[in-house]
Amino acid sequence: MASRISVLTRAKTALEDITNRVGEAVRRSGVDEGICHIYVPHTTAGVTINEHADPDVGRDILAKLEALVPARGNYRHVEGNADGHIKASLVGSSQAVPVEKGRLALGRWQGIFLCEFDGPRDRTVVVQVIPSAATRASQLLERESGQP
Ligand code: ZN
Repeated sequence: MASRISVLTRAKTALEDITNRVGEAVRRSGVDEGICHIYVPHTTAGVTINEHADPDVGRDILAKLEALVPARGNYRHVEGNADGHIKASLVGSSQAVPVEKGRLALGRWQGIFLCEFDGPRDRTVVVQVIPSAATRASQLLERESGQP
């Protein structure tokens, strides 16, 4: 039940709103109740949940991360993107959102963002929708009784 979302990021650092695409993956999964797990398989990108009504919130997050971990600094990593690795670890590479009635149980102002810290690049987000134990049990019962 895993699906992959491709995201082409547009700048060195960016927050790309992937809320609708994750919601679409949840709908396609057909899961009514469960957990949506969102995972970013990269070392200089991450995923976060925060306000997506006001784009200035994302700008403030990126600006503060840049102040905490500047692009140029006394880093040992020879590839030149140590700041991207550090920011990715600060943000983290996964999130889990409850699924209720077939939809992401996000708060009114919340959105899901792929966090780019060494772009622009092609990025992948792995979305897995895990049905609750009760949902799995009722699916098993339906299967055993031959009901659709
Ligand atoms: Zn590197």
